[in-house]
Amino acid sequence: MPHAVIESPDSLKTFFASCEAVSIRQDQDISGPQSRLPLGVYLHIPFCLSKCAYCDAVSYAGRMQLVPEYVRALHQEWLWYAESGIWRAFRPSTFYIGGGTPSSILDALLALLERLSRLLPLASFFERTIEINPGTVRLPQLQQLRTAGINRLSIGIQSFHDDELRLTGRMHSADDAQRCVREARQAGFDNISLDLISALPGSTFERWAENLRQAIALGPEHLSIYTLSLEEGTPFWRQYQDGMLLLPEEELQIRMYCHTIEQLTAAGYEQYEISNFARPGRRSQHNQIYWRNEDYLGIGAGAWSSLHGVRSGNYTDLDRYMAGASRLESEQTSGVAAPLPPTVEQYECLDHSRQIGESIMMNLRLIEGIDLQRFRQRFGVALEKRYARELEKLAPLGLLDMQDGFLRLSPRGLLLADEVCREFI
Ligand code: SF4
Repeated sequence: MPHAVIESPDSLKTFFASCEAVSIRQDQDISGPQSRLPLGVYLHIPFCLSKCAYCDAVSYAGRMQLVPEYVRALHQEWLWYAESGIWRAFRPSTFYIGGGTPSSILDALLALLERLSRLLPLASFFERTIEINPGTVRLPQLQQLRTAGINRLSIGIQSFHDDELRLTGRMHSADDAQRCVREARQAGFDNISLDLISALPGSTFERWAENLRQAIALGPEHLSIYTLSLEEGTPFWRQYQDGMLLLPEEELQIRMYCHTIEQLTAAGYEQYEISNFARPGRRSQHNQIYWRNEDYLGIGAGAWSSLHGVRSGNYTDLDRYMAGASRLESEQTSGVAAPLPPTVEQYECLDHSRQIGESIMMNLRLIEGIDLQRFRQRFGVALEKRYARELEKLAPLGLLDMQDGFLRLSPRGLLLADEVCREFI
């Protein structure tokens, strides 16, 4: 059936209410119609011990005194969606705790998970990931996370060179990273992803190759490898503007990227997204929801949701987010029904064209590309027809491949992914 278009957030609630009721019991999984769409849930923890020089994420250093109130706000927001009937319309699929540095507030987070489990057992989500910073956890904390039901770790290593870690403002050392992976295994985690950043200032081909070698030697199930991007307003961005930051030339960056693909492929990893590699069966299920442009719910400051064509973003400012959540508390007790919670700062209802354009843009990040039949079923239109002109323009440039019912970026197209994707929106 073609994808529906929601015209206002009011109709989102109507959509929830129109779905068949589900039953949630503490001692078992949520039960309800299998026809419900899968939903990824993201929980944002915006606290960090210090701010890294390249980071423009919604994260704050030096505001730990707000943790108790913030965690209460997360609970309120989650409760609002649960009471709005979200689990009638969607079935829990993946759960991802990101940040910020979630592992920097572990005790409060574990207590929150316990409370959230009373609303919906965490085991209802088949993949449950947390991002951790190697400098913030040791074996006992990792064991606590495993016991709490977390079954996947995303470890922010970024580099195995201490000078690069210092330069970027990371709070951990290469030894911390090595130890963290070892202790995660001891704690029983069998699904570990490592994050690395290539093309850091001053990096050379040899230093990057050494980073890769060390990452592979640790045997993670998954690797996310992003090329450094300079985000406006960050210290790195300012240093670059002032001519104080020396970045690897573009040609070297491309060599690093190609070397990454070669080495990881040789080590048994499958490149399944522009920047992501996995052992067979170990792709990030949560991130694939974003790349497939499926539905997700974001809880927390600055978190985004995309629910049945309604895209909404929460306040990024902690005080405003928490003020919204406390209004929510009084509205819930007074029975006021709002279309979206007051933690939301902005929303838009995506029309059919936007949904199609964004799906293409996100799907093309996946190496398998766009399943043309699935696309037709979802949007009620053939991509080849709707974008005949764009395809005609891009095909002779060797940037796209169309075969076996899939449209995908060619190896050359992978290097120019942003430019190719822009043609479709
Ligand atoms: S730890 Fe992560 S979220 Fe926090 S400042 Fe560094 S890069 Fe940003």
